[in-house]
Amino acid sequence: MTLFEKIIARQIPAQIVHETDRAIAFRDIHPVAPVHVLVVPKRPLRNTAEASPEDEALLGHLMLVAAEVARAEGIAGSGFRIVVNNGSHAGQTVDHLHLHVLGGRALGWPPG
Ligand code: AMP
Repeated sequence: MTLFEKIIARQIPAQIVHETDRAIAFRDIHPVAPVHVLVVPKRPLRNTAEASPEDEALLGHLMLVAAEVARAEGIAGSGFRIVVNNGSHAGQTVDHLHLHVLGGRALGWPPG
């Protein structure tokens, strides 16, 4: 069971900011921006590389949840970033797909 499955099951605490039938959004425990929320599918999926055509609607749903979180957090107007780390070179540390929603300050580009 991944860490995020335990959060979904309420076995470990998290600051949940949004929830739907298919996704949950909670604050990152080590925020790197004033707003840093993770959007996670309830159905376990390791990362985008392992997604299949049957995940198409779910992936779209996660993007819409991320945008809803950005609006609710007040960063939709100022701008925000959605990041998905896939695999070790990208720095993925939790093997359960998640979208980072980052904002509240100007974000540098490109990432290091
Ligand atoms: P990634 O490195 O893309 O796999 O992102 C995993 C993220 O999960 C990191 O930004 C961590 O800070 C975050 N994280 C790890 N444990 C927790 C937790 N218990 N609650 C909330 N966020 C967490």
